[in-house]
Amino acid sequence: MKPQDLLHPRPEGLYCPPGDFFIDPVRPVDRALITHAHADHARAGHSSVLATRETLDIMRLRYGKDFAESRQTAAYGETIDLGGVVVSFHPAGHVLGSAQIAVEANGLRIVASGDYKRHLDATCAPFEPVRCDVFITEATFGLPVFVHPAPEAETARLIASLAQFPERAHIVGAYSLGKAQRIISLLRAGGHDAPILIHGALAKISRYYQGQGIRLGRLEPATVEEGAGTRAAGQIVVAPPSVLGDRWTRRFADPLSVFASGWMRIRQRARQRGVELPLILSDHADWNELTATIRETGAGEVWVTHGREEALVRWCELNGIAARPLNLIGYEDEAE
Ligand SMILES: [Zn+2]
Repeated sequence: MKPQDLLHPRPEGLYCPPGDFFIDPVRPVDRALITHAHADHARAGHSSVLATRETLDIMRLRYGKDFAESRQTAAYGETIDLGGVVVSFHPAGHVLGSAQIAVEANGLRIVASGDYKRHLDATCAPFEPVRCDVFITEATFGLPVFVHPAPEAETARLIASLAQFPERAHIVGAYSLGKAQRIISLLRAGGHDAPILIHGALAKISRYYQGQGIRLGRLEPATVEEGAGTRAAGQIVVAPPSVLGDRWTRRFADPLSVFASGWMRIRQRARQRGVELPLILSDHADWNELTATIRETGAGEVWVTHGREEALVRWCELNGIAARPLNLIGYEDEAE
């Protein structure tokens, strides 16, 4: 069996003909296997969905209980037979419940990474390398210039800014699933014990994380009357990135805008968004993590998707690994 007979791109997403299923389809399909609950990977409207318990829970929180006609839970490491194709889910270290999906038939194993990272993250299970013949890797930060700093050092800069500007509210823009909870967890680990205010868009998911035993400390709603302009001096407010610079922030005391994203490595992006304190914090693998992971899988062939494919394809070729870009459409990387 050739690898492309086991998995290949179709307009709906990555398709497995012998198992008759899609991985992270962007359009409604009969059977979907979903790597994680970010909106561009996990969409509502499939007939059946197979995913980890946490991914199914978060999809229900976001889309309502009828997000799919039927749902099946995959535990990490469990093998499931789908029409003679054996599939299994393995931790991806990206957000709570995130998984790589291994697909195996006739002695050929392909692993679709979904989104992943290798930096430790107290809010989800750590990435586990899976030996495979073909590794499908994301490449959001697939350029050598992208080397993420230690996450603790980035949140330490935020804690230092609070001490330096105690009269200002620090408004942190962070993606509502994963990034927001991770930055809160890092702040707690860094000794910041004061209540943290959260935007309403983060409330349900943060509560879910806490229910799964993830320590986020005391969270309070950031809802206040408009026009007050005095609230949260010296405090941290976490909100979706879209509200930075929005009138929503004007209710807080002299708001100082903070943005937590791997893209903050690019100063111009921070300037364009009017970010005063850019924090380089990503839930995606950086260049070193991408190349180390490719080696660890032992894959003889790599398919590269979601981002800067060319540089990583070139790196593989220089290192004797067959590689090609896999053009999947409909995935976004902006917020993460
Ligand atoms: Zn993601």
